[in-house]
Amino acid sequence: MCASRGSRFGRTAIAQRSPEQLRSMRAAGRVVAEMHAAIRAAARPGVTTLQLDAVGREVIASRGAISNFLGYHGFPAVICASVNDEVIHGIPNERPLEEGDLLSIDCGAIVDGWHGDAAFTMGIGTITPEAQRLINTAEAALAAAIHEMRPHRRLGDVGSAIETVVAAAGYGNPHHYCGHGIGRAMHEDPDVENRGRPGKGHELLAGMVLAIEPMLLGGGSDDVVQLDDGWTIVTADGSPAAHVEHTVLVGANGPEILTRL
Ligand code: MG
Ligand code: MG
Repeated sequence: MCASRGSRFGRTAIAQRSPEQLRSMRAAGRVVAEMHAAIRAAARPGVTTLQLDAVGREVIASRGAISNFLGYHGFPAVICASVNDEVIHGIPNERPLEEGDLLSIDCGAIVDGWHGDAAFTMGIGTITPEAQRLINTAEAALAAAIHEMRPHRRLGDVGSAIETVVAAAGYGNPHHYCGHGIGRAMHEDPDVENRGRPGKGHELLAGMVLAIEPMLLGGGSDDVVQLDDGWTIVTADGSPAAHVEHTVLVGANGPEILTRL
């Protein structure tokens, strides 16, 4: 899931995790990656996002993990499933996916009290070249941000990397939602904004773990709207959106993606 900007208080130091804590965070991240793989394999025309939620639940149960999405402020599922103009926090439902849909899945898991959180966007069946370019740009923005997850870089370098890729492609970049610290809770300090000034903000040090999550709006506007369900965030102009995320460790020798197999 995404954090809302300024949803937590203060500007506390970012925790540096011990080797033992990182073992648990890697285990949680692996469960999230396995959920992604199983859901990707199951997602096709005719399948509902409620069925994909069931796939996610099976993976969590089979690994003895706990969902950090289910029950989060009352959220009713272990995945967020956001289709087409839905950006984030879509609630799984009974509408069958259709050829050409753009599907964003966000999910997480807890192992030994430690959290993982990651998201991907995929096409259902054949999608338009424009939709594929949106996905590719989202993945490029995430990769550029992950590249900055090195000791002595700063949070502004991470945000700026995302902002630069998104702006160059002409996509919108919503202001209110962002990535976050992650550890014993899904959302910890600091906010990891999808924009920033190079060389500014918190200094990154080995052992810090952040969830980085660019959201791209296909129409080029930054504006989003929350639906009456109290969760789903959609593009204001009805254009399609993409959302990708990884939980990433600042390793002594470079970034380590914890939510990848
Ligand atoms: Mg998140
Ligand atoms: Mg997430």
